[in-house]
Amino acid sequence: MIVILLGAPGAGKGSQAELLVKRYQIPHIATGDIFREHFKKETPIGKLAKEYINKGQLVPDQLTNDIVRDRLSQKDVQKGFILDGYPRNLVQAKALDQLIERHGWKVTAVININPPQDILVNRISGRRICSKCGAVYHVTNKKPKVEGICDVCGGEIIQRKDDNAEVVLKRLEVYENQTKELIDYYRNQGILQDVSGLEIAKTDKEVVQILGE
Ligand code: ADP
Ligand code: ZN
Repeated sequence: MIVILLGAPGAGKGSQAELLVKRYQIPHIATGDIFREHFKKETPIGKLAKEYINKGQLVPDQLTNDIVRDRLSQKDVQKGFILDGYPRNLVQAKALDQLIERHGWKVTAVININPPQDILVNRISGRRICSKCGAVYHVTNKKPKVEGICDVCGGEIIQRKDDNAEVVLKRLEVYENQTKELIDYYRNQGILQDVSGLEIAKTDKEVVQILGE
């Protein structure tokens, strides 16, 4: 099962992916998470990616395509995987098509998570993450048991630098300009499925209807 999640920043790709991981036991591959891992470890890739990410811009395609190609050469993707945050433009989508073809795989579905605009900004500006394990929280919708401390690992909860209001607007603009055309690209191939993105549980039900139990 190969599932591609599309949706603006704040659409809830990560939250839906978590549920898919549990249900289908396949890995969740989020390019944003991979880049954040790199900058935590201060690798050369991390240092480069940070420049773009903190401004709300896309990391260059070649670098991004390379990290995905490497990730998809690992063993654990044999049963399938969930892509979150990749592809983000047509160049990446075509690189992914080639990669998938070369492996002899086939995309099961592209799920377009599409909540109303006003919800997006609220979700992102209230989002907090664990600095250690990346678990996601929200100041009103999903508080940790102890303020500032991750329920999962005890790490410190912080706000992503690119989740501040100014960078968020830039990310939404980049989404409109670059990622949105992927919706037509996949719709024309007949593999795009729309879900509401309103509540996590409701959206999950819609996803199950598409992918099966
Ligand atoms: P969101 O989807 O909420 O914007 P992500 O964690 O997916 O959050 O991405 C954060 C940032 O990481 C993006 O704004 C971008 O700079 C970078 N990034 C993630 N995925 C890609 C990608 N496929 N191509 C280029 N840049 C990416
Ligand atoms: Zn944690």
